[in-house]
Amino acid sequence: MPQKTKNTPMMEQYLSIKANYQDAFLFYRLGDFYEMFYDDAIKAAQILELTLTSRNRNADEPIPMCGVPYHAAQGYIDTLIEQGYKVAICEQVEDPKTAKGMVKREVVQLVTPGTVMDAKGLAAKDNNFLTALSFNGENYGFAYVDLSTGELKAATLPDEEAVLNEASALQTKEIVFTSEIDEKLKKTLQERLNLVFSSQMEMTENAEFQFLTSELGEAVEKEVTGKLLCYLAETQKRSLAHIQKAESYQPDHYLKMDYYSKFNLELAQSIRTGKKHGTLLWLLDETKTAMGGRLLKQWLDRPLIQQKQIHTRQEMVQSLLDSYFERADLQEALTKVYDLERLAGRVAFGNVNGRDLLQLKTSLMQVPQIRNLLSGINKGAWNDLLLDLEPMDDLVRLIEEAIDEEAPLAITEGNIIKDGFNEQLDQYRLAMRNGKQWLAELEASEREATGIKNLKVGFNRVFGYYIEITKANLANLAEGRYERKQTLANAERFITPELKKLETQILEAEEKSVDLEYQLFLAVREEVKKAIMRLQKLAKAISSVDVLQSFATIAERYQYVRPNLNTKQELTIKEGRHPVVEKVLGHQEYIPNSIVMDRETLILLITGPNMSGKSTYMRQLALTVIMAQIGSFVPAESANLPIFDRIFTRIGASDDLIAGQSTFMVEMMEANQALRHATPNSLVLFDELGRGTATYDGMALAQAIIEYIHKVVKAKTLFSTHYHELTILDEALPKLRNIHVGAVEKEGEVVFLHKMMEGAADKSYGIHVAKIAGLPTDLLERAATILQHLEKQETTAVKPKDRVSEEVEQISLFQEVSTEELGVIDTLKKLDLLDTTPREALNILYELQKRI
Ligand code: ADP
Repeated sequence: MPQKTKNTPMMEQYLSIKANYQDAFLFYRLGDFYEMFYDDAIKAAQILELTLTSRNRNADEPIPMCGVPYHAAQGYIDTLIEQGYKVAICEQVEDPKTAKGMVKREVVQLVTPGTVMDAKGLAAKDNNFLTALSFNGENYGFAYVDLSTGELKAATLPDEEAVLNEASALQTKEIVFTSEIDEKLKKTLQERLNLVFSSQMEMTENAEFQFLTSELGEAVEKEVTGKLLCYLAETQKRSLAHIQKAESYQPDHYLKMDYYSKFNLELAQSIRTGKKHGTLLWLLDETKTAMGGRLLKQWLDRPLIQQKQIHTRQEMVQSLLDSYFERADLQEALTKVYDLERLAGRVAFGNVNGRDLLQLKTSLMQVPQIRNLLSGINKGAWNDLLLDLEPMDDLVRLIEEAIDEEAPLAITEGNIIKDGFNEQLDQYRLAMRNGKQWLAELEASEREATGIKNLKVGFNRVFGYYIEITKANLANLAEGRYERKQTLANAERFITPELKKLETQILEAEEKSVDLEYQLFLAVREEVKKAIMRLQKLAKAISSVDVLQSFATIAERYQYVRPNLNTKQELTIKEGRHPVVEKVLGHQEYIPNSIVMDRETLILLITGPNMSGKSTYMRQLALTVIMAQIGSFVPAESANLPIFDRIFTRIGASDDLIAGQSTFMVEMMEANQALRHATPNSLVLFDELGRGTATYDGMALAQAIIEYIHKVVKAKTLFSTHYHELTILDEALPKLRNIHVGAVEKEGEVVFLHKMMEGAADKSYGIHVAKIAGLPTDLLERAATILQHLEKQETTAVKPKDRVSEEVEQISLFQEVSTEELGVIDTLKKLDLLDTTPREALNILYELQKRI
């Protein structure tokens, strides 16, 4: 990049500014364009499909350059931000006309993925969290802020796993390191979250930031939050008045789910599409406001673990269900509520216009109606919420009196402020109106005096007001009556001193009124700014109302019940359903299933063929638990659930999405998480664990894991397996129970009932299926013989030892395997069961059997 030849003063200026923004595209304002130079230009030209040109083309080393028109810059900036880049916006900060020498330029904002405020880049129902991370040798300080809503929180995290979990829960797009951070952690963050790194090592003392962080107890939290605020101040360079006082939170106070589990359970993001459709969030989201949508997502990310808190939410949902008012009325009012949180942010930033204020008014005008409806409830928690639903009449009145209902988008062109709001403005307007009236009168009187019927008074920007007379009528005009000003093809235009005088008055009034309107608008906006904190409080209350009404709506629509929550490790779900599969299939099609695990049951071992509904059953439990712990009702006839502290899952289908790790490795990593961190209050879901490796290898691991959970971990566990051999474990492990998926023969076809039944699945199930499918009798008999033979060879699970730490002895079957049989095993191993229909499986079985 450095130039050998001497740079022009402008390029000197460019380079000195660019030096401070190495990791950003520098949009350098030159007249009506933002220009980029050197590498920025080369890269931007490619990404934004711009024409790459060069400055001083004839020099030895021309400087690559490309640019975008300033009025269209937003779209280009959005594109760069979406792709994970930063953009530094460098403006001319003095008037080129009055500047001596080079016009002064400064970066006025650094736009980064974590700080975009503009609506286009942000989905209304998503937060955009900017996070910050520090390490003090012992703990991690973690903080996050949503610049658009002003939410600011901090936590102390014990280890890297916690950091990864928090960062991925927030789906942060940018992380600011505020101290040295281990490279390995950075790499993992990058791999998992694909985010942008920034850094802010310095902390400038600032009274406002001290206030904002004053309630944080931990030093590490205070520091990371303070630096995060410094980062905001340095990049945004404008008022941060809407940032809320930082609150400390503890991830331990919520139901924990690690990154993989949230991903596997498709809480907010579908595994296949990455979108919301088909997820639990999609099902639950009947919120009517953007704020409510965001709050729902936050609740889903952090289910509660305190019975009292859950109970409060349930009570509130129940009251809505019991209340007499029409929920549709409440929803209608909510629908009219604008995004108050983001509006408050934009007020602080000073970019709201007249229409925004009108929307604010409309929003606030809904509050009395919302309060009215809810006031009938008159119950504990609702009363508290009602107190926060402040209608803010003062603001409504101010906007009502000040802002014209037809206010334009622009705030500098007048027509925003209503008549009667300001006396001076009214006078200007009167002068303008009078002037126009006078012009009309002049036209009439001149027509009269000259006898020219089509004489007309007009206006254009260059000549101002004029009297126009067509060529045909010129002869009728007395010489010297008017002063000639402009000649057109078929008319002449004239002025008179009187007309000019009036013109001055009208134009002056117009200009002054536009100026005054702008000033008045700013004053109104300033008033609104004073109310930011109240607005934020109101916004919070409305979001809660919205989420709770969403829960009530869903509960009613899909006939969910209020779960009972216990602390006795008892779990009974009667006729439960998987909420999302049920919604997709339709209520009639979905076959409900119960789950009963009393205090003494730790493990349910689920056997059943592929596609019979094992994994749906397991997910159903996890989703039911999560729904219960966010305060929602649940899809079942009745439910009594323990309060879980963590959920661990190893459920198929996510494998291919986690880059660079083999299926088996992912399986083992997930299993490891559960085995190390689960407590007796945790829920563990293992689907087909061990399927990623060789049969005996996998089976041995599966058994050992089950034994370990039974004896050491003691968490409630659902374990599905196709290793039928494992079902004998119930003999040795008293807290393990077998269940299986039932199947029947119907018109010659095997139909999976998707119904869970007690006990292990029938061992010769496959042969039954083959029979129904009509395979030759000889073959079936042969299969039965082989089965017997295999069973004799003790391929059954090894009896559990008394102590888990003792080694499991070698399974004898490893010897005595022929090459042909090894080939069969190999084929089986390579088989993608997820992608195989039962019928195809039968054909494959048939082929395999022929080979041995
Ligand atoms: P497995 O884990 O046993 O291979 P899945 O749980 O993936 O099977 O279920 C296979 C399919 O069966 C699912 O896609 C779903 O459409 C259907 N299914 C599962 N459980 C039920 C149920 N209880 N009622 C109706 N359909 C179900």
